[in-house]
Amino acid sequence: MPVSRGTRLAILTVVAAVVLPGARLILGTMLFVVLLVKFYRLRRWEGKPYFKYLLLLLVFIVIGYTYAAIKVRQVNEYRLTHKPVGEMMSQVADGIYEGKGKGYRAPIEVRVAVNDHRIKDIEIISYRDLAAVRATTVTQLREKILEKGRIDGIAVEPDLLRGAVYTSYGFISAIEDALVKGIKDYPRAGLFSTTFLNVVIGAPPDRFTINALAIIFAVFLVFDYALQSVLTRDTGQTLTCYNCATCVGACPVKMVEGYQFPMDLVLAARLGDYETVERLSKYCVGCGKCAAKCPAGNSGPSIISASIRANRRVKAAEEMRVKAALG
Ligand code: SF4
Ligand code: SF4
Repeated sequence: MPVSRGTRLAILTVVAAVVLPGARLILGTMLFVVLLVKFYRLRRWEGKPYFKYLLLLLVFIVIGYTYAAIKVRQVNEYRLTHKPVGEMMSQVADGIYEGKGKGYRAPIEVRVAVNDHRIKDIEIISYRDLAAVRATTVTQLREKILEKGRIDGIAVEPDLLRGAVYTSYGFISAIEDALVKGIKDYPRAGLFSTTFLNVVIGAPPDRFTINALAIIFAVFLVFDYALQSVLTRDTGQTLTCYNCATCVGACPVKMVEGYQFPMDLVLAARLGDYETVERLSKYCVGCGKCAAKCPAGNSGPSIISASIRANRRVKAAEEMRVKAALG
């Protein structure tokens, strides 16, 4: 079965969402809207199994997100007034804790070692902000904190370097996040909320993710266009197709044998799969509704007849080759 540009884009979207946690919310919303629009255009989808499952998934995501967001917000509000400073530092048990803070470009993650209620070591696990800020401001902050053994009274000075203030606050809030994990009975968001937000929603979108997404989709469009041009074969027609599915919405057949009708016929013809077009041609009732709606001027019946002609040419050429080979 030919794979439409929409399907290729959907596959790319899922892969990008897996490798870029910060892009999951954007990509998930995009994917969902596209699927709903597609469903609306198709009007029926062979018993609508996709729609039913998509709707259930949407309900689960909305309820899960609402619950997790409320929980995380409550914890964050509590943390604003209950920082691991002063007296509270004496409640932080000895151990090694990991924490995350919002940086300038991307979240900053740290690992903090606590001994005798003092910070003994800070290791930066993840950092994607400016390297110059790490080498200067963050290094100085780290040294000051280690010298004091706590984060009380550590001032973040405005810096001339772009992003230094955001990065500094992100670094300190990552340490705070780690320290509160060492306090018994400190309110937490809970396993469901954190897992849900991490896996389904991912991280909040940051500059790095937005740039990475822009590059990935730009490269995809260039290569996809090149691929389509290479795969297009001569059927005697231009066969431009935007994969918009307008024809599918207009066509009374809509879907047969898993092919969206007649959009997938156009795709099959472009891929030179004339055999499939010919085999499916019996389902076309010749009403012409697709031709009236298609923005690229395609018509199911004319694609079918062009493909049948092309198929005959291909078969005749094949027979000639076999005959020539046999002498
Ligand atoms: S002409 Fe054929 S492909 Fe076009 S809308 Fe009618 S049945 Fe569908
Ligand atoms: S309406 Fe035309 S451009 Fe849109 S998917 Fe159908 S054949 Fe392609």
